[in-house]
Amino acid sequence: MNRQPFANEPFTDFSLDENKKAFLAALAKVKEQLGQDYPLHIGSEKILTEEKIVSMNPGDTGQVIGRVSKASQELAEKAMQVALEKFESWQRVPPLERAEYLFKAAARMRERKHEFSALMVLEAGKNWAEADADTAEAIDFMEFYAREVIRLSETNIHSPLVKIPQEDNCLSYIPLGGGVVIPPWNFPLAICVGMTTAAIGSGNTVLLKPASPTPVIAHQFVALMEEIGLPAGVLNFIPGNSSEIGDFLVTHPKTRFISFTGSKEVGLRINKLAAETAKGQIWIKRVIAEMGGKDGIVVDETADLDAAAASIVGSAFGFQGQKCSAASRAIIVESVYEQMVQKIVELVSKLRVGPADENAPVGPVVDQAAYNRILDYIEVGKREGRLLIGGQKAEGNGYYIQPTVIADVDPKARIMQEEIFGPVLAVAKAKDYQEAIDIYNDTEFGLTGSFYSTDEARIAYATDRMHCGNLYINRKCTGALVGVHPFGGFNMSGTDSKAGGHDYLLLFTQAKVTSRKK
Ligand code: GLU
Repeated sequence: MNRQPFANEPFTDFSLDENKKAFLAALAKVKEQLGQDYPLHIGSEKILTEEKIVSMNPGDTGQVIGRVSKASQELAEKAMQVALEKFESWQRVPPLERAEYLFKAAARMRERKHEFSALMVLEAGKNWAEADADTAEAIDFMEFYAREVIRLSETNIHSPLVKIPQEDNCLSYIPLGGGVVIPPWNFPLAICVGMTTAAIGSGNTVLLKPASPTPVIAHQFVALMEEIGLPAGVLNFIPGNSSEIGDFLVTHPKTRFISFTGSKEVGLRINKLAAETAKGQIWIKRVIAEMGGKDGIVVDETADLDAAAASIVGSAFGFQGQKCSAASRAIIVESVYEQMVQKIVELVSKLRVGPADENAPVGPVVDQAAYNRILDYIEVGKREGRLLIGGQKAEGNGYYIQPTVIADVDPKARIMQEEIFGPVLAVAKAKDYQEAIDIYNDTEFGLTGSFYSTDEARIAYATDRMHCGNLYINRKCTGALVGVHPFGGFNMSGTDSKAGGHDYLLLFTQAKVTSRKK
């Protein structure tokens, strides 16, 4: 079948009445299905366990989204054996056939797009547009990686090896084995789907351990893969505690790779545990870790200040700042500093905080632990700078926090250095654009950044000097599109991988060269 070239899934225009109605209907449908029990998926078995992860709506703390079964070490071991056994056949399924499962899943998810998004509204506290973008990205990952599976299988056509007369040589990318996928809760569908389908599309088998705040949406993805006929055992679903089954699987001698997205602390821990060689282990485990960010937007005096302010506010407070790409720092040159600060405050004062299902621009943060941590950081920030707006919890029956802006912060202050992962923006003043870029680079992370200026020479300087995996000029620093902005950062932001890029699948494969004498 001749496929169209990859194109991003369009976002839904919620200003149109019909789309609004369709989304409200999806929300109503999802609400009717709340509170169910969900099983583990191990091979073709569905196992309901006594112990459950109870997923709650962060914006309405009485509302149970679902109760998801929890794997013990014994069940995790069983899933590992199933994944290893299945790998023997799955690795030999032709790439075109593997890609076909991804295309099918993308098509099915597109049909039920609003249902997936509506579930994220309730389980993760995303407003409509954020949830819609998450589902669109999930579809994009499957469409993009399916094409990549095919492209990599044709590598000898696209980039043939150097020819010598006496031999035929051929390079192929073969899968690694059984691996563990540990996605984050903040893109509970997109990143979960992206990491998982990259792995299985490449011919690996997977143990998926979803993020504990968002296991129901992960389960619905697994159910969809089953529905489209993905052979049992290729994708196994084993929610559970990090300390119990997370560590168990990371240190397991048969684990071939670990694909993780989440915090720096957990990523480093996984990397360390995975570096130990367990008894009976015959490989070096591959760790693909996408970790945090302390991203910033730099504004000079030649910039379009209104555009810069809108972009800072959008990047800082979209999904309550709970993106590793979020702008948690704004670094502004002295001559326009007060003007910019005023513009930012004015825009933030218009942001309504409220339930995600009512489509408030700012919804709840994910759980009690995040809520406490962010409020603590706000107290730290009040001591480190000038509180301009926000600064405390917000009304509502959930984890609501006012969007908070703290100005005049020293570049070395904790709120300029540590990832808060919440609706908190630190603003720092620089004497000129060069100093501003130095401040931007003064971080252990290196994920996203933006530079606002109309001066070409400065833009060239910033392009060269700002050290991050995703640098944006005169636009916001969130919202990377699959295929358009391969996403991933430097330094403590991770292992320099690029999700949604042409190199990504290589991380789930190993290259084999076969030389045949003529
Ligand atoms: N890819 C997302 C963006 O560009 C961020 C992903 C994340 O937060 O993990 O905004």
